[in-house]
Amino acid sequence: MDSNASFPSVSTAKPRLIQRIVQYPHPALRHRAKPLRRVDVELRQMVAEMLELMYERDGVGLAANQVDLPYRLFVMNPTGDRAQKEQELVLINPEILSRKGGMEEKQEGCLSLPGIYAPVRRSTKIVLAAYNLQGQEVRYELEGLAARAAQHEVDHLDGVLFIDRLSPGALAEIREKLLELEQEFQTNRRLGLIPDDRQIAARLAALETLRT
Ligand SMILES: [Zn+2]
Repeated sequence: MDSNASFPSVSTAKPRLIQRIVQYPHPALRHRAKPLRRVDVELRQMVAEMLELMYERDGVGLAANQVDLPYRLFVMNPTGDRAQKEQELVLINPEILSRKGGMEEKQEGCLSLPGIYAPVRRSTKIVLAAYNLQGQEVRYELEGLAARAAQHEVDHLDGVLFIDRLSPGALAEIREKLLELEQEFQTNRRLGLIPDDRQIAARLAALETLRT
């Protein structure tokens, strides 16, 4: 017998903690994320929602700032394929311990800068330490796309975007697209879809006092 049979049906769907991926030039993207003190049920839900958004948008990585959260945390899967669960990483308080293997310039994009791609120089190999969702310390040696994606995401946590790392020539090439995103942001703000800077900062500060 269904143990709930005699009770009126109650929706058990949890309200979403994360609404959307914020886009350049949203101030959360320039906010330096703070280390997390613990992993709790709510944080696990946020991570699940971040992974869902990342796969929905065909991304290979997503940092907490990109969903308007002030925490040092990112998710990634270099395959971008949710079926390849074993490639999925959740990295809490990540730290790049070393960069090696030389530098390589490759095309990058970002879910917070839709439609913009440009070449960025990154280390080809890194050693990354972090905590996982079980609160255990983990260490990875990453190379290729995984190393690039992790460096891109750690940059996010420091408030750095890939467009900050472009050569002047590459930046000039995407300037017009950046201006379009800036105009779109201002329009959305005028429509009341995006709070003002003061409200955004107050919200991030309140979230920080909760778990950092
Ligand atoms: Zn990004």
